[in-house]
Amino acid sequence: MGTIFEKIVAREIPADIIYEDAKHLAFLDIAPLEKGHTLIIPKKAYLTVMEMPETDFCELMVVVHKLAKHFEKTLHCGINILNNSGEIAGQEVPHVHIHLVPRREEKSIYNKKAHVNYLPNEMEIYKNKLKL
Ligand code: 5GP
Repeated sequence: MGTIFEKIVAREIPADIIYEDAKHLAFLDIAPLEKGHTLIIPKKAYLTVMEMPETDFCELMVVVHKLAKHFEKTLHCGINILNNSGEIAGQEVPHVHIHLVPRREEKSIYNKKAHVNYLPNEMEIYKNKLKL
């Protein structure tokens, strides 16, 4: 079977590919948040970034960095670099992908003002829980 992105890697379905190397592919998102919205994927079908060995994740980030610099130079834009890991986090395609969204205007793709409030002392609890 395989995911839709595995089919793109295998050239079984078309995509507008803008970058490829032995381990990665980058192509335009079919439903862009902004023009030029791109998805960068490892060719190996990991489900989430947490599943990836550190070396593979770092290699993916090197490609993200390369393309982000290229976008900035080419489109004169700012960039949102996003990843949704897990269904609860909004991941729709079960194959790791990093969103590169060129930003040329103030329109926010997510609501920065939508925050939650900690109960008294709860921030301290989270700090201790998440300390590594
Ligand atoms: P997610 O919500 O999983 O982080 O993002 C999945 C992204 O994949 C969405 O932005 C969606 O538009 C894109 N997408 C889903 N199917 C296809 C496809 O067949 N081709 C391309 N190019 N993008 C796709």
